[in-house]
Amino acid sequence: MATTTTGISSYIEPAPIKDKENPFESMMSRFHDAAQLIGLDEETYEVLKTPTKQVIVSLPVTMDNGKKKVFEGYRVIHSNILGPAKGGIRYDLGVTLDEVKALAAWMTWKCAVVDIPYGGGKGGIICDPRSMSVGELERLTRAYTSALVDVFGPDQDIPAPDMGTGPREMAWLMDEYSRSQGRTVHAVVTGKPLVMGGSLGRTEATGRGVMVSTLAAMAKLRLNPGRATCAVQGFGNVGSHAAALIEDRGIKICGISDHTGAYWNDKGIDITKAIGYRNGNGGVLEGFKEADRITNEELLESPVDILIPAAKEDVITQANAHKIQAKLIVEGANGPTSAKADSIIYEKGISVVPDILANAGGVTVSYFEWVQNRLGYKWTVDRVNRRLDRIMQDSFERVYKAAKDYNVSMRLAAYIVSISKVAETLKYRGGY
Ligand code: GLU
Repeated sequence: MATTTTGISSYIEPAPIKDKENPFESMMSRFHDAAQLIGLDEETYEVLKTPTKQVIVSLPVTMDNGKKKVFEGYRVIHSNILGPAKGGIRYDLGVTLDEVKALAAWMTWKCAVVDIPYGGGKGGIICDPRSMSVGELERLTRAYTSALVDVFGPDQDIPAPDMGTGPREMAWLMDEYSRSQGRTVHAVVTGKPLVMGGSLGRTEATGRGVMVSTLAAMAKLRLNPGRATCAVQGFGNVGSHAAALIEDRGIKICGISDHTGAYWNDKGIDITKAIGYRNGNGGVLEGFKEADRITNEELLESPVDILIPAAKEDVITQANAHKIQAKLIVEGANGPTSAKADSIIYEKGISVVPDILANAGGVTVSYFEWVQNRLGYKWTVDRVNRRLDRIMQDSFERVYKAAKDYNVSMRLAAYIVSISKVAETLKYRGGY
């Protein structure tokens, strides 16, 4: 297991959790707790707590009105100990360097949990993609790629989609990067359109991993899919695919939501209809008539067996954690539960499949995409899904066993598994 010499409690104060919850502090407080449990040595602790590289770029982009607007973008490589950095790019007005740092570190732990040969990275641009034209988004994506051309690379740092980005943005990124190299470089980015070297099964992969984790946890809790109910918060790429696949396994989805509102139906919502409605309604659920309108809080606190937060950080906090009624939380989003809510949830006896395990299906199929690009070969969707299911199931069992061995939550267990792996690798690699 991990590098163990002196415990860290002797030389470092517990990471302070301030009143205002912050994703980087949330990540650090779990990292600290897990590091302490495995007795991580001081040097390794110091190396792993600090991102390897943080790049801030300013991106002047000509808007459709002819005027230049300057956007701020980030790329953080938390670690490249296990391999090239891997992680998505987020377009959102709420992007901050602290958020990108937390998300980059989560990618390090996530790749280690599912045992794929990548370090962790993340990028973001402060922008509102919904209010930008396709042309503006293309120019912004190309400007960002060009500014980071020395950071990205198939053996250095491999971006992918995240909130606000998708295959279209990845295609621009691949093209811009390829132009800079004077040749086509498929493996520099994953989550590409199928015709450009994307992988079958990549779009649904995160949702599929959430489904596999949900079923694995339900089996441990002896929850019968035929009688279980579920609410899914967030109806983007992760939430909608997770909901459809979970419904497919016989679980009743009573609540769904997106940024326009939340919807509830005691009898269960037909997810195929909901997806069809969203697709024909500008990508939003607003006005969906097959369910009653409820608030986002009501959805999170609804009397379901399984709650799947699949939108963004800090939706379950100390303000609402005590009101959660679900028996099982499966984190489709990154960081949906703040560190301060962890203990409330744990004391209530609610099981949590943590983000770095539950939503790792996306990066796992990103890894398959990168492997296929390097092989110059295309796998069938069955092969992708079979391998994904196996990795998710095995990783779940590994984390579940660590939770039992250390008598801790699955969240801490996931950190224990991943920090141990990265620490052991670092020990072999050594340094100056
Ligand atoms: N953005 C996704 C995540 O947070 C996918 C990352 C990737 O495929 O590299 O896991």
